[in-house]
Amino acid sequence: MVAATETQNTIAFPDIEISEELVRRFDVSGPRYTSYPTADRFDYSFKEERFLPYLRERATGAANPPLSVYFHLPFCRSLCYFCACNKIITQDYGRSAEYIRYACKEMDLLAPHLGTDRRTVQLHLGGGTPTFMSQNELSMLMDATRRHFEFTPDAELGVEIDPRTVNEDTLSFLAGLGFNRCSFGVQDFDPDVQAAVNRIQPIGMVEQAVRASRDTGYESVNADLIYGLPKQTLASFERTIDEVIRLSPDRIALYNYAHLPSRFKAQRMVKSEDLPSAETRLQIFLLSTRRLLEAGYVYIGLDHFAKPGDELNRARQGNSLHRNFQGYTTRAECDLVGFGVSAIGKVGRSYNGNVRTVNAYYESLDQGRLPVERGVDLSTDDVLRREIIMILMCSMPLNFSEVGEKYGIDFERYFAAELERLRPYEEVGLMETRDGAITVTPKGRLFVRALGMVFDKYLGQPTVSTYSRLI
Ligand code: SF4
Repeated sequence: MVAATETQNTIAFPDIEISEELVRRFDVSGPRYTSYPTADRFDYSFKEERFLPYLRERATGAANPPLSVYFHLPFCRSLCYFCACNKIITQDYGRSAEYIRYACKEMDLLAPHLGTDRRTVQLHLGGGTPTFMSQNELSMLMDATRRHFEFTPDAELGVEIDPRTVNEDTLSFLAGLGFNRCSFGVQDFDPDVQAAVNRIQPIGMVEQAVRASRDTGYESVNADLIYGLPKQTLASFERTIDEVIRLSPDRIALYNYAHLPSRFKAQRMVKSEDLPSAETRLQIFLLSTRRLLEAGYVYIGLDHFAKPGDELNRARQGNSLHRNFQGYTTRAECDLVGFGVSAIGKVGRSYNGNVRTVNAYYESLDQGRLPVERGVDLSTDDVLRREIIMILMCSMPLNFSEVGEKYGIDFERYFAAELERLRPYEEVGLMETRDGAITVTPKGRLFVRALGMVFDKYLGQPTVSTYSRLI
């Protein structure tokens, strides 16, 4: 156990120090920077015609980065009231077979543009509920994927799991398909909270699924938790955290529930009078963080924790952590190709986003067109700022001369205004500048999005998005 010195409102560990005062001052609403520019800046005149040249450039050009593949599988059996995902609630299992056929069609259309000899190092099935699909459908999807993409022997194949939809057989079936990472949606174990969000999954059910994933040999098991949910109290979430620590997943994501009922229809089912106060949320966050650190987890950044031996932590220590649409990753910069409704991709100097409804998705594919509805062409300045933001989000050293040389700029002159704006963060020890480099300090890791925002030139321009906060 790590020795902790603490007062009621401060946690001080050898590795990280958090005080209420610091959180109140620097926990700003901001993007999570899984992309830059952020998805709310994508341009709706970016369609297939603007996307294809980026694919062709990869097929014919010298650059040959590895590939990451994402599938969005949107179907769910019932609605969780906190949900902000693009999903379709249905009990009609026939719908997924049709969807898989279209996803295969999308692969048939897109993959030939990628050229040959592209190594695929990552695959992720997200949703929705990927395990809504039958075993036949998942086999069909994976067979088609393997026909188009060649996975490296050490490729990371991950799947999001709703514990209510799996048993030992499902988990070993998925392992047989090659999946070696799984992520369980745990959220909260308290029965009152589960009832308030319409997601009943007793501890025993989750425990059985996590055990089965261990027995089946998944290399990394993640648990997602959400705090700020209706009916949560400090005492109830403490029990949840303790149970999760007992289950011992390799990684834990501790998300903050952002209640935005005007944007997410499902959240209108949440009674706002049941939501914990801002003060309780802060106490839950501080307590959970303390418990996880005491239990030996390492704070990776934003809302992510990992065991010391987990490759995420090893990558963090070795300055090789990255960030993509799946969050923190150990895989080097990849081109990302996304399939399915609302999937987002990143190829060369572009991002592309698919249409959000299945009808529009099917219609586009029936016409033989990639279902791209928005995207963005990145300028050199965008690429430069993206690199800086990603370095900061991963808490890696930002070396001025290295970045300056790479982009042919005098870093300190080019970013004079940004460096000035970083001063208040330096004064309270969230970062330090030494020997021509910025280093994010351990406590600064909590506030990396505030540091990233300093370099985001689009902030302040109109957007439809409301950004979340850490707490
Ligand atoms: S939280 Fe997951 S399982 Fe629940 S409705 Fe949303 S996508 Fe479906």
